Amino acid sequence: MIDHYDVIVAGGGSAGIAAAIGARRAGARVLLIERGPCLGGAATLRNVVTYCGLYTQDLKQVVFGVAEEMLAGLRELGAVTEPRKFMAVAVVFDPEGVKRVADELCERAGVDVLLHSHICAAAREGDRIIGVQVADHSGIHEYGADTFVDATGEADLAHLGGAEVRYGNDGKVLNGTLGVRFGGIPADAPITRASVSAALRAAKAAGMPGLTGTSGLIARMPVSEDLITYIADEEYDARSAADTSRAERGGRGQAQACLRVIRTMPGGGSAYIVSTGPELGTRESRHVIGRSQLTEKEVLEPGPMGEAVALGAWPIESHPGPGMPLEWIHLGEPGYYGIPLDVLRSRNTANLFAAGRTVDGDRGAGASMRVMGTAFATGQAAGVAAAFAAGGAGGAGADVETAVVRRELERQGAWLPG
Ligand SMILES: Cc1cc2nc3c(=O)[nH]c(=O)nc-3n(C[C@H](O)[C@H](O)[C@H](O)COP(=O)(O)OP(=O)(O)OC[C@H]3O[C@@H](n4cnc5c(N)ncnc54)[C@H](O)[C@@H]3O)c2cc1C
Repeated sequence: MIDHYDVIVAGGGSAGIAAAIGARRAGARVLLIERGPCLGGAATLRNVVTYCGLYTQDLKQVVFGVAEEMLAGLRELGAVTEPRKFMAVAVVFDPEGVKRVADELCERAGVDVLLHSHICAAAREGDRIIGVQVADHSGIHEYGADTFVDATGEADLAHLGGAEVRYGNDGKVLNGTLGVRFGGIPADAPITRASVSAALRAAKAAGMPGLTGTSGLIARMPVSEDLITYIADEEYDARSAADTSRAERGGRGQAQACLRVIRTMPGGGSAYIVSTGPELGTRESRHVIGRSQLTEKEVLEPGPMGEAVALGAWPIESHPGPGMPLEWIHLGEPGYYGIPLDVLRSRNTANLFAAGRTVDGDRGAGASMRVMGTAFATGQAAGVAAAFAAGGAGGAGADVETAVVRRELERQGAWLPG
């Protein structure tokens, strides 16, 4: 007899945490399955330590719910900054804080969490996924559920369970980057985003080998005052271990090259690498093909918000290729846009919802919706919808009304304008 849940959430990043808590609070019995040793996803496993997409350009917070509970927990630990304006507004946090707060939030909500558990297969019957197989060091285990949320970033569950997926958009994906954290740089050293980029450009022009990117986000972290950098760009197919292995080696080589450059800068003589990754940061992989797709036009010229179950507030931030300049397009008024439920619902798998960077957006919309603040929002919405679609009168995977999902999200602390 396999363990059967109302909702299984695959992947414990920002989207998965919010999905699991959202589903549990909507009354479902929930299992959250994560292949890593901790929750947090890119925030804890990929050195991505800035939550984007929570605030508009004029510092108005628009994403609340589980995202706000994460921020509140981090504030209690002194592990998060106030919102800061980079190209757009973000907060910088200490990843150890995220690990702890995520554990506590899930425990308090009553979510069953399985770490060290890789989803390696999924079973399908008709138009539904009915169960997953999970590998750990003791072997393969099976879990079943009425409904599922794919928050794996790579859309592994959808792919394994026969749902329609698409790798990237228009035959391309945004490039990945290895997040590298440097220590040993005094807080008052004149080492800034502009000065590091200028030094890297000069080193690259002088023929220093092993550098692709020379610019990207560079920020001081709370607690440690370490410098976080998203510069070491790599191009690879995130679905292939062989290709990702090559790119991991390349990224680590770039991190050493960056270190050599930083050590030549005033105040950088004692710099060292605190950590790389540990994993390469993948910005885009598979998308779950939804009942509808959010478009760049809908992101840039938002219409009425009455159908939205989640809000996005990050500009379109495209990374066209290693070392190539980033492309930014800022959002129109009111500085945020709505994401309808059908964007999160699989087109051909009735009981599957997508969350986080797996959701269905075209190239422009995807390059905005992928950030972690928005992942919390789509995650919580997908979790609530999955809870209502589980075992209801219409059977697992039954249609759920947007109004019902919005009401529950508001009850859980989300802000959704009419
Ligand atoms: C270099 C870089 C810089 C970025 N900068 C920012 C930034 O400054 N701010 C921001 O908000 N966003 C940023 N992003 C984007 C952001 O990190 C991701 O898009 C975001 O993490 C998406 O959240 P998620 O929950 O969908 O996925 P993830 O955070 O990737 O979480 C997915 C989780 O699923 C787990 N998983 C995957 N496959 C399986 C499986 N088969 N079985 C079990 N578990 C599985 C993974 O281990 C992971 O924990 C950046 C991305 C990169 C790469």
